[in-house]
Amino acid sequence: MARVMLIGAGGVAGVAASKMAQNADVFSELLIASRTKARCDALKQDIESRYAGRPLPIIATASLDAMDVAATTAMIKEYKPDLVMNIALPYQDLAIMDACLAADVSYLDTANYEPPDDAHFEYSWQWAYREKFEKAGLTAILGCGFDPGVTQVFSAYAQKHYFDTIETLDILDCNGGDHGYPFATNFNPEINIREVSAKGSYWVADSEHSVGASVPLARGHVGRVTLPELDCHGVPVEYRKAFDKGWWVETAPMAIKRVYNFDEVGEKDMYLLHHEELESLGCNLKGIKRIRFFMTFGQSYLTHLKCLENVGMTRIDPVKFNGVEIVPIQFLRALLPDPASLGPRTKGKTNIGCIFHGVKDGKPVDYYVYNVCDHQACYAEVGSQAISYTTGVPAMIGAKMFLKGKWTAKGVHTCEEFDPDPFMAELNKQGLPWKETFNPVKVD
Ligand code: NDP
Repeated sequence: MARVMLIGAGGVAGVAASKMAQNADVFSELLIASRTKARCDALKQDIESRYAGRPLPIIATASLDAMDVAATTAMIKEYKPDLVMNIALPYQDLAIMDACLAADVSYLDTANYEPPDDAHFEYSWQWAYREKFEKAGLTAILGCGFDPGVTQVFSAYAQKHYFDTIETLDILDCNGGDHGYPFATNFNPEINIREVSAKGSYWVADSEHSVGASVPLARGHVGRVTLPELDCHGVPVEYRKAFDKGWWVETAPMAIKRVYNFDEVGEKDMYLLHHEELESLGCNLKGIKRIRFFMTFGQSYLTHLKCLENVGMTRIDPVKFNGVEIVPIQFLRALLPDPASLGPRTKGKTNIGCIFHGVKDGKPVDYYVYNVCDHQACYAEVGSQAISYTTGVPAMIGAKMFLKGKWTAKGVHTCEEFDPDPFMAELNKQGLPWKETFNPVKVD
């Protein structure tokens, strides 16, 4: 029986809270604290009516600006939770980690820290807290959503059970859902647009970067090429040192496109994106040489995004308008549909998973593990679309792993650093069952 403080009351937090209510044997008390208290109250009301008659956590709500470290510390000290779950926005990560250290409580989040004035994320800021959490005897679990999150649990599972070394990993994130709007984002619009309008990049090991090293050529090319003139996709690239280990190979946004036929969804265009878990997996997977991340986008989304970029609506710096300063992307966010409102309209399925290639007992192995999630089934169960669902469910499972004493290593950790088996078992029980194949269609 545990007491949890949940910060945030948006789409993902709503699912996590609902799933905690379904696991009231573990989550006995819950404080939902967020910037807008009315959303916390609405969430409490929804849970209490959705699960009326069943044993539920005792739910309290509060208004909190989590950028205010003193106020957050005071609230944590007063409520005395066993764990703080940060499901607000990545901007709040460091402030909430500071508050957790001051109040002596462990921490979990679903996204890498991002400075508000720089559309850029990496682990360095949160990895800088490793020693502080370790010395305090506290645990910080970073990025416990689906991707990041489950993709790293899948990686740890593959490494533990099927490989001696993993050489390449492709993470494929497909959303085959349709919400009927010409343009809307499935999670926080500001964070989403910052992510997809950034340069594309993939991770390569130090051994793959050294000048003179050779890599396979792209489809339609023959032989090998010496870095750094061209990369394996045949597109112009630049190299940037990753924080701890390896290199980022950077491309123009959406420069690398592939078509993939996803189980239960069908054929979709997918594009190479920069993504946070590539960096930690590059450090933690034995023998890894290359990690890529692809996400599907429809043409309408891309056309709208390009147009919004071209007119400056995705800018993150303040501009003067009628005598006041506004940040265009924040104004755009106010115009776009709230991701939490997409649930009733979204039909179709997501398919997110990892394709590994490596070696076991001297023999080559290919392995694909993925989850398929139905938007309408999520809506029927917790009132949300599948993107919030596939993020909120793992956040709850991560909290459960900590509270049940299964994921308790002290310090700051990403999900592949823990034992994947109990988490994989929970995915099957909590609504995100996974499938596996040893004969996947690979991405060239
Ligand atoms: P929403 O915008 O729907 O919700 C964000 C919530 O945080 C809102 O309730 C908001 O309050 C609250 N909030 C914002 N600023 C503050 C603050 N200063 N203090 C307290 N509360 C604050 O976002 P989502 O639910 O879509 O996303 C939540 C998180 O999940 C994000 O970090 C996102 O990047 C991450 N994510 C991770 C994924 C993964 O697979 N790992 C996938 C999808 C999302 P208000 O209601 O006032 O706006």
